[in-house]
Amino acid sequence: MASPFQQLQKILKHEAQDGYRNRIVIGGMGRFADHWYRQARAALQGGDPELLLALEAIYADLRRYEAADPEERRRLVEGLEARIQEALQRERHLRSSRSAAPAPPEPVGRPQPSPPSPHPAAPPEPPALRKPEAEPPEKPRARPAPPVSPRRAAQVESLGLEAPVHVIHGLGRERAQRLGRLGVQTIRDLLYLLPRRYVDFRALKPIHRLRVGEEVTVIGEVMDIGSRQTGNGLTVIKALITDGSGVVECTWFNQPYLLDRIKPGAFIVVSGRVDEFLGRPVFRSPEWEPADRELLHTARIVPIYPLTEGLTQRFMRSLMKRVVDYWAERVEDPLPAWIREAYGFPDLPAALRQVHFPDDWEPLEKARRRLAFDEVFYLQIGLLEARRRWRSAPGRALAFDEALLERAIEALPFTLTNAQRRALSQILEDLRSGVPMNRLLQGEVGSGKTVVAALAAYAVFLAGVQSAIMAPTEILAEQHHRNLLALAERWAAAGLPTPTIRLLTAGVTGVERAQIYAELAEGSCQLVVGTHALIQEEVAFRDLAFVVIDEQQRFGVLQRAALRGKGYNPHVLVMTATPIPRTLALTLYGDLDLSVLDEMPPGRRPVLTRWLMPEERERAYAFIRRQVAQGHQAYIICPLVEGSDKIEARAAVEEYERLQREVFPDLRLGLIHGRMKSEEKEAVMNAFARGEIQVLVATPVVEVGVDVPNATVILIEGADRFGLAQLHQFRGRVGRSTYPSYCLLLAESPSEAAIERLRAIETIYDGFQLAQKDLEMRGPGDFLGTRQSGFPELRLADLTDLRLLELAREAAERLAERDPELQAPEHRRLAEAVTRFWQGPVEPS
Ligand code: ADP
Ligand code: MG
Repeated sequence: MASPFQQLQKILKHEAQDGYRNRIVIGGMGRFADHWYRQARAALQGGDPELLLALEAIYADLRRYEAADPEERRRLVEGLEARIQEALQRERHLRSSRSAAPAPPEPVGRPQPSPPSPHPAAPPEPPALRKPEAEPPEKPRARPAPPVSPRRAAQVESLGLEAPVHVIHGLGRERAQRLGRLGVQTIRDLLYLLPRRYVDFRALKPIHRLRVGEEVTVIGEVMDIGSRQTGNGLTVIKALITDGSGVVECTWFNQPYLLDRIKPGAFIVVSGRVDEFLGRPVFRSPEWEPADRELLHTARIVPIYPLTEGLTQRFMRSLMKRVVDYWAERVEDPLPAWIREAYGFPDLPAALRQVHFPDDWEPLEKARRRLAFDEVFYLQIGLLEARRRWRSAPGRALAFDEALLERAIEALPFTLTNAQRRALSQILEDLRSGVPMNRLLQGEVGSGKTVVAALAAYAVFLAGVQSAIMAPTEILAEQHHRNLLALAERWAAAGLPTPTIRLLTAGVTGVERAQIYAELAEGSCQLVVGTHALIQEEVAFRDLAFVVIDEQQRFGVLQRAALRGKGYNPHVLVMTATPIPRTLALTLYGDLDLSVLDEMPPGRRPVLTRWLMPEERERAYAFIRRQVAQGHQAYIICPLVEGSDKIEARAAVEEYERLQREVFPDLRLGLIHGRMKSEEKEAVMNAFARGEIQVLVATPVVEVGVDVPNATVILIEGADRFGLAQLHQFRGRVGRSTYPSYCLLLAESPSEAAIERLRAIETIYDGFQLAQKDLEMRGPGDFLGTRQSGFPELRLADLTDLRLLELAREAAERLAERDPELQAPEHRRLAEAVTRFWQGPVEPS
């Protein structure tokens, strides 16, 4: 068989004769380079380090060829010609010395550094290198058979990618279970278990040129290997590796089995960061593998996988390699060719191969982008579909007396902001339209969403039908109820008709509850506010036409659907204070129309926020005292306690007692926590709202929605335990009036991440900017709380990549024009993929 170097030599000769026009090989020199490299690598199994080095160098030049201009190409070919000559010399030399008797191995004291000679004629034979042929044969490796145990073949055949991972040959039940902990159940899951990051070990260097700090790969012979125990019981394995140009020391800790795997005389590839010891370069715990195999752990861009106990990087990589080699090409690409072509994406098998074992950074980036696109594309298809379904249902066109509504607005204790006006008129438009409303009202904490919802509900009442407002906590539902009653009073005073308003929470029981059920069923109650109690089966409406879901991020899709199901295609308004950039909102809530309150009621000032040191607690108390002396009120938030409500409540009781006894004996303190009865909670909140309680000690239950404008300071204990969004919500409890307001944060020993959060909340007041920061710090999945919200999990897509989101949206729209129901045969697999995506991954066991 001709040497790969001779082959290449021929091709280059023709290329030179043809004037370096890249026409000699079909598909171009770039493709050929990859092909040739793989072949040559396989042919060089013996692993002569010099030849391998030559191979790498030649390959690197070949890859540059295509992009080069003719003049550069000429120079490249000349350089290549010289390298090939060298390699051929070396091959001849190896062949001739094979027939000669093997030289006795020399002692490996201090090999002479011998830089590669520029002369093709006489490459110095490295003294310490043994001939590859003389190497003891490695254990024969299993042939690359399908990585599936034969017994299971039939099962796998029918299940395909949905086959459970334990069918993989040699994986074993225990490891399959461990993979389960990473969320991997099926072969498909495994293919989509992507590297967390990659290390570039492609830089192949002769040992004498190693520089401290660089990440490199060397190929060489093991001169010596041994182990010793350290004082504290560690086993240190130390090996000396030489490639003829120098010697480098490698150490590994606590891996005694390496003594069996790495034998003196073996050729190995070592990749890692070059360290220094007594002025000499060393590798500490480098990656390594025998030089005669396809390299997985070294000398390439090496993937780093997420791990769990009992799984090692090496195991994962080998497993992945087998799985990707066999399965990637069997994955059918759901993305229709016309989309792939329009956006220049690689096909799915190629993308999967590259994302696990990239040839280079560029194909890796393309692969990741393609896979990320898949996610947001499926997301968009689902959202557009939901929207289409929603809008095709017949909706109620409500008619109401506009003049009465206008008078109700005038009767408010304040003037609506322009943003509130705009949002309200968008909502009213929906109510009148005859198409069911599905609208998101988004606005910063304190921007006044409630009153917009209340006015819309009032219009619905004027139209003669019912509304329901659902809030995530009893406290919040009660507050809405209180506020609505106060509004109704003003409307009555202005001579306007007023609805009957009821509160329905878990705390409302017995006769009272039965009474409310009856009123809802017969229609004499036109507006009900409540918690989850509203979606109990027993609750029935006479004619529910409008549903408001406050703080929608607190509810799952099912709960929203349940409330909606209480009416016949009711109009739905969901409200949230989670500020997401508009484009992002449109993309994520593609099925919703969007109204934004981007303006605060007049006179609001930013809540001055300070992170205090623990020893400044007394100062914080003094500050609270001064605010109270000026007639204001304060919140003190107790830390989040892991464990249970009960423990948290107990801690809050203790803190409350301590504060009352030792810190504020002369002030009126109140306590509120999750374990109190509804009536107790309501009594406390009422007393606080009326100003009878001056300082309210609370567990995190008051996080959302609570509105007592006279409160001007909030002290948050254990602030490091809360997320950014939560802290921002807490802060939103104050600053609800024109008085200057303050947020004080205390944290005993914050982690690094917590410090970053505290700094952010201290300096960033704008909800949008904070959300952006939050997104960056936590990643999209956590940010959206996707699991509980029923939103599919995004593993790859970066939700800050608006460009990609827009691309996916556009593609989904184009698709909807062609084939909205995905019924064309060419979209069958796409339809399956979309369904699978929305069903979500199996929960890790
Ligand atoms: P959020 O959007 O956080 O739910 P709320 O609806 O609780 O905010 O409103 C915050 C406070 O602002 C309430 O006390 C409310 O009465 C008041 N408010 C709402 N709109 C206006 C306005 N246009 N002018 C003055 N105060 C307003
Ligand atoms: Mg609110």
